[in-house]
Amino acid sequence: MSRPLSEDPGSGVRYDGAVDAEQLRRLIRDVPGFPTPEVVFKDITPVLRNGGALRAAVDLIGAPFRKSGVTMVAGIEARGFVLAPPVALALGAGFVPLRKQGKLPYRTRREEYLLEYGSDTLEIHQDAVGPGDRVLLVDDVIATGGTAGAAVRLIEGLGADLAGMGVLIELAFLEGRRALGADIELHAVVTYE
Ligand code: AMP
Repeated sequence: MSRPLSEDPGSGVRYDGAVDAEQLRRLIRDVPGFPTPEVVFKDITPVLRNGGALRAAVDLIGAPFRKSGVTMVAGIEARGFVLAPPVALALGAGFVPLRKQGKLPYRTRREEYLLEYGSDTLEIHQDAVGPGDRVLLVDDVIATGGTAGAAVRLIEGLGADLAGMGVLIELAFLEGRRALGADIELHAVVTYE
């Protein structure tokens, strides 16, 4: 049985039935200075460790795309791997991983994207998605949108159709939504302005 939210020390969240987005917001923990001094890390582990909150997070990420004909849910390493598979199950779709360079065993396509300092690379198996697929991209957080942009290029580069992107958290002040472009349907469960 999952632990009621009211037992989560310090969350201040009362559990009486369904968990809503506001309760999820109160469970997400700010960790200032991780992994580098200037970052305030949004820690979702207090959400994941509670069955009711985890269920709500998965339901709320998938809900806007219930009628989008999604055939595949693509999760971004690493925390996207936690959320994307249950969203895929809820939508009756499959799951594909988007991984950091050198982690996927088969033939891959890669996309480089810029970070504040330097760059990073995301890869997908070349047969992961293709024409006829409607792909929902899932991650825990969208910040500047650089990672998501590379993921979109990989998915569309393989000839698949992008249904949209679902995230638990949008850091709106970093304007990732604008970087992604207005033509991409982005839904966030919790937004920080
Ligand atoms: P970005 O490419 O700037 O949109 O960053 C998105 C990726 O970095 C996601 O995969 C997130 O997991 C991670 N990320 C960026 N900022 C944060 C943050 N403040 N807290 C937690 N994860 C973050």
